[in-house]
Amino acid sequence: MNLLSSQWIPAIRRDGSQCKIAPWQIAETDNPVVELCAPRADFQGALYQFLIGLLQTCVAPEDIVEWEERYVEPMSSRYLQEAFGAWKDAFALDAEVGSPAFLQDLTLEDGEEKGIAGLLIDAPGGKTLKDNLDFFIKGGLVNALCPSCTALALFTLQTNAPSGGVGHRVGLRGGGPLTTLLRPVGDSSLWQKLWLNVLDQEQGLKTSAESMDASILPWLALTRLSDKSGKATLPDDTHPLQMYWGMPRRIRLCPASQSGECDLCGEQDLPLYSRYRTRNYGVNYEGPWLHPLTPYRFDLKKENEPLSLKGQKGGLGYRHWLGFMFHDDGNGDRASIIVQDFFNNKSRELDSEKQLSLWCFGYDMDNMKARCWYEHILPVFHLEPEQIVNVQAWIQTLLTSAKDSAPLLRKYVKEGWYRRPEDATGDVGFIDTEFWQATENDFYRLLGQMAALPVGADRVPPEIYGDWRSVLYKSVLELFDHFTLQTSVEELDLKRIVNARDALVKKFNSMKSIKHLREKGQVAKEVANG
Ligand SMILES: [Zn+2]
Repeated sequence: MNLLSSQWIPAIRRDGSQCKIAPWQIAETDNPVVELCAPRADFQGALYQFLIGLLQTCVAPEDIVEWEERYVEPMSSRYLQEAFGAWKDAFALDAEVGSPAFLQDLTLEDGEEKGIAGLLIDAPGGKTLKDNLDFFIKGGLVNALCPSCTALALFTLQTNAPSGGVGHRVGLRGGGPLTTLLRPVGDSSLWQKLWLNVLDQEQGLKTSAESMDASILPWLALTRLSDKSGKATLPDDTHPLQMYWGMPRRIRLCPASQSGECDLCGEQDLPLYSRYRTRNYGVNYEGPWLHPLTPYRFDLKKENEPLSLKGQKGGLGYRHWLGFMFHDDGNGDRASIIVQDFFNNKSRELDSEKQLSLWCFGYDMDNMKARCWYEHILPVFHLEPEQIVNVQAWIQTLLTSAKDSAPLLRKYVKEGWYRRPEDATGDVGFIDTEFWQATENDFYRLLGQMAALPVGADRVPPEIYGDWRSVLYKSVLELFDHFTLQTSVEELDLKRIVNARDALVKKFNSMKSIKHLREKGQVAKEVANG
């Protein structure tokens, strides 16, 4: 199979029919493809990134004008077929050792041989199997994969690679990075869903005239080893487009030796891959990489390099909105380059009536173990550059007070529950999760009101701050009552609960961020009355 000419990408056309397409068919206009349909959520996210990477590498627009033209009218599928065709030799799924094979070590002949399930990030490793902790994928259920699933597993692993034991390197963005992709809300073609996430070449990612460029596609040359005599790979050592094609793991598929049914997608009569070889000390990405599709946390003291944001316990929600759209001064989170570019350049080229959203996804990794897969959709508001500065400051005020309220609620619920709360262990993160969910709709309601203010407005109506304070107060108390009063009657100590509730109210009202909300509301009111 060749990833640029074979029809291997699972997709859905406008009339609802499922099909497999070659990459150039994303530009077909007759009954166009509207969505991808990979057999697993992590494959779906990876497949989007594969196609975005391909567009960025082979046919990136010269400037924003060309970007906008192509958004409205895709390049012809014939043109795309030719453009991708030039890169075809680098995209064979398997080839004899010594010839390039997609995302595989050029010359790897010996190495540890593993079952194909080892390519899946949530597949249990040796130790996990031994400890009987294989809760995502039970050991032994995936033994053979079709070429399409094998290609997706390989790309998903190289893109997200967690640490895999001594010398088995993590991905270019670290293990299990978050990815944020812009998406149109409502009907749109797959082409638009992808093209929204392509940068024009004036943003620093120039395409290469040389299609077999090993500085972009690292599997075209000998692997840059990172063993004792090897070295790390920094941004200056390669072409920036390698960010889309990182290859931290040294892997070579063993040729498909049988045919039959794929254990992941269920397709029949296909050649099946069941084993691969691997070695450690592959490409070791270090230094200040900034992958265009990922938000990063910048060190507020500017002493350390930025770190890609990762999936975390508690999942994703509106508390990430500011950091994923612009930047959150509270923790240093900053939007991905693709989102920054949207607000700086693309936003004004697009019809502001057409709503967009931000699709955020990624693994929550506990070192080598996949704990959870998270996905979340955040609303995107069309904002003029002069609005952004203001909205950002206003939102920061709302977010800070919410971020202060969540741990307060957790603390006092525990005080209501236990005589000695400080000794109570156990995960009570679900209290925070409930709090964030309970306040989410109101947050977006107020954010919508702020975004709708006239472009020159430099103040928020005072009611917004007062409104948010009431939302927080009400949610904190309702959730406190909900959690403390549902305890079994025997353990219910009403006096302890009432005391904890009083303390919660007092503490809530004396918090700096809550006082700040109240003052802002008051000051604005006085000015308005003045
Ligand atoms: Zn399959």
